[in-house]
Amino acid sequence: MNKSDSERIASVLESLNYRSAPQINGADLIVVNMCSIRQSAVDRVYGLINKIRKNKKIKTILTGCILKKDKKKLANSFDLILDIKDLPKWPQLLSINKTRPRCKEYLEIKPKYSNKFSAFVPISNGCNNFCSYCVVPYARGPLICRPHQEIIKEAKKFTRSGFKEIWLLGQNVNDYKSKNIRFPDLLKTINDIPGYFWIRFTSPHPKDFSDKLIKTMAECKKITPYLNLPVQSGDNQILKKMNRPYTVAQYKRLVKKIRKAIPNISLSTDVIVGFPGETKKQFQNTLSLFKEIKFDMAYIAKYSPRSQTAALKLKNHIPHSEKQKRYKAITEVVRQAALENNKKYVGKTVDALITESKDKFLIGKTDAYKTIKIIGPKKLVGNFIKAKIEDVSPWGLKGILIS
Ligand code: SAH
Ligand code: SF4
Repeated sequence: MNKSDSERIASVLESLNYRSAPQINGADLIVVNMCSIRQSAVDRVYGLINKIRKNKKIKTILTGCILKKDKKKLANSFDLILDIKDLPKWPQLLSINKTRPRCKEYLEIKPKYSNKFSAFVPISNGCNNFCSYCVVPYARGPLICRPHQEIIKEAKKFTRSGFKEIWLLGQNVNDYKSKNIRFPDLLKTINDIPGYFWIRFTSPHPKDFSDKLIKTMAECKKITPYLNLPVQSGDNQILKKMNRPYTVAQYKRLVKKIRKAIPNISLSTDVIVGFPGETKKQFQNTLSLFKEIKFDMAYIAKYSPRSQTAALKLKNHIPHSEKQKRYKAITEVVRQAALENNKKYVGKTVDALITESKDKFLIGKTDAYKTIKIIGPKKLVGNFIKAKIEDVSPWGLKGILIS
């Protein structure tokens, strides 16, 4: 989502005749697009201050997801703090000519795409779920869905321009609603656009994962067999304290249904270790769930206390050393499962989209969102290839280029 925001910021700045500078020295303007999901990301912004303030002539803007308390603290370190939601007003705010008209609404701003093969298409902004640990509803505001006609128009433009992959983005994509169009309808319409391209999306919420969505994913050939399904914890009491309205049994049933309908699906998840009051037993429940589900990948986060959120007020915050231990333990479980899952690819042919080249290697992602590394010519960056897998590790596949 932040990457997509950065593409929109770049587009607005280019409309004001700014061009990207190769390095900080020599820039006229520095825009820091902040993320407040975890304290470590916030700390990085504080760490940047001295570096960017060295040259007093450079104008600085802070934007992105910023919490009230950081806004106050950082007010003196940046020339301007602008809300990402106010991006449409930036031309007025930054322009010497204050009569410059305000540009379109945030979601209508056309991003400056960072490559010509993979496109991020936000379908909504904000979130109404108020998971007790999360700043998103405070930093981005309530869920606002983009009209479906606009999303479809943008998707068509991409496919006509030869883009190979479309990522539909939102904090809770399966809560999408535009008139009578829900998320599965949107997927189906995009799938029906002519041409060969992949459809991916992130993130869905388990509570809103309908049978219709599973059916749509199974039937639509352009939707890739990859799903990030954030579980956050494998313990019912912790899930309740997190304000995640599902149980472990419901999550397991959902995974079973998805795997039955889409047998080759690769599954990743998000999990938080060391949520306030999480006992060793409760963490063991999360480990057990992970051992059972055998995720292909997991975004593992150590709980980070965030201001304004409900979880901050909970008792028994877990010491950092214990969070670190749990982080290591769960990483090991994911590593073993991912290796086991990846071994199934040895000898098989996979489809992949090549995203970069490094030395003589091509690097990309398979349809199942596995990282793949093969030897091949640079000109294949941005193209689909077929490769035969010869070797695997927990975090990727290696093979030879077939076509
Ligand atoms: N909307 C998505 C996730 C958005 S935030 C969902 O519902 O899952 C991305 C991830 O950051 C979350 O899935 C969560 O695992 C992590 N995260 C959010 N707040 C956090 C916090 N306070 N501490 C640690 N991790 C956090
Ligand atoms: Fe945050 Fe995702 Fe929960 Fe929304 S659904 S509050 S974005 S974790």
